[in-house]
Amino acid sequence: MAYFAGNSLGLMPRSVRHALDVELDSWQEHAVEGHFRGQNPWMHYHHICTPSLARLTGALDEEVVCTNGLTANLHLMMVSFFRPQGDRNMILMEAGAFPSDQYAVESQVRFHGLDPGRCVVELKPGAGRRCLTSRQISDAIQQYGARLALVLMPGVQYQTGQVFDIGEITRMGHEAGARVGFDLAHAVGNISLNLHDWGPDFAVWCSYKYLNSGPGGPGGLFVHERHAHNPELPRFAGWWGHDESTRFEMQASFHPMRGAAGWQLSNAPVLGMAAHHASLEIFDRAGMDHLTERAAELSGYLRHRLVDIQHRRGADALELITPHEPGSYGCQQSFSVGSHGEELLLSLQQNGVLIDFRRPDILRMAPVPLYNQPEEIDRCCDLLDHWLSLHTKS
Ligand SMILES: *Cc1c(COP(=O)(O)O)cnc(C)c1O
Repeated sequence: MAYFAGNSLGLMPRSVRHALDVELDSWQEHAVEGHFRGQNPWMHYHHICTPSLARLTGALDEEVVCTNGLTANLHLMMVSFFRPQGDRNMILMEAGAFPSDQYAVESQVRFHGLDPGRCVVELKPGAGRRCLTSRQISDAIQQYGARLALVLMPGVQYQTGQVFDIGEITRMGHEAGARVGFDLAHAVGNISLNLHDWGPDFAVWCSYKYLNSGPGGPGGLFVHERHAHNPELPRFAGWWGHDESTRFEMQASFHPMRGAAGWQLSNAPVLGMAAHHASLEIFDRAGMDHLTERAAELSGYLRHRLVDIQHRRGADALELITPHEPGSYGCQQSFSVGSHGEELLLSLQQNGVLIDFRRPDILRMAPVPLYNQPEEIDRCCDLLDHWLSLHTKS
């Protein structure tokens, strides 16, 4: 099977089974003592992914932590960084945001006693377009300026594969006096990130897509260094965010860890993190620079094949959704064959190629550098071309 759904759920690294066995053995052998004994005492397990995540996101170690899930982290971040005050009470986001993000935003707005209809500004692509332009984003930030409490955008749009300019959006949002946060679900492990220098206030991500941590793998969050030690910042707290040196003194008053670690709530889900860590080791060994270079070759090649098919079959038969400017896409290419998307999906599956489909008409295909080959792209594109030759009237 040629697997092009690494943007949804990455394939299992071979090393994961052993990594899980190590922790299962520790549990079986040491039980509660496993917190202090074994190869990786669980007491400190929450640190195990930090250095790799810092490298992947271009952050300082203290700016990142592996914890919770993406949506939980988004809520925690909004508790701290969506602080509506007077007229500055709006959130700017995309109309096409992932539903979980929309639910989180809407419920946070209501939590503050505000009306989502008034306080959430949703950016939509222009008429007949699939993607937002940088111009639309900058115009909206200018237009709403002093009303904006938070700008919340994706690093990579999950439907279209469009890469957003995190540094530029952050700069504009901050200039307007807003806080700026990013959902990096489709960005982390896909494109190079430089969060510390780009400077958003926060970011959140999940690890089971490009990072291959397995179903429901633990999420991560970034909090910029400028907020590392700010006791005034409101937050929802838990014992794992409490100062490590006194955590087990079990005192009543909360003293947060410096940096992102201070947003942890619960003790680490060791089994999920073991899988995540095993996968991160592969990213460390391969190096993100090398991977993005290879990713650009693969997706550039896929793009080239799709453009060629479009030339021959017509823009009505095959619409390319992902923007084509250099730097505006990562691994994923999205396209549409009109109302026949599901048929095409099935036909590809029957021929050993797995891509995915999002209603009403978006097909998403993500060759990833760790396990996809150009020959697989050829196989998929040959099948697509053949399918179109049977299904398009000319
Ligand atoms: C995959 C994805 C999520 C998933 O959220 P979970 O909390 O991990 O279930 C959220 N937002 C975006 C943009 C996604 O692509």
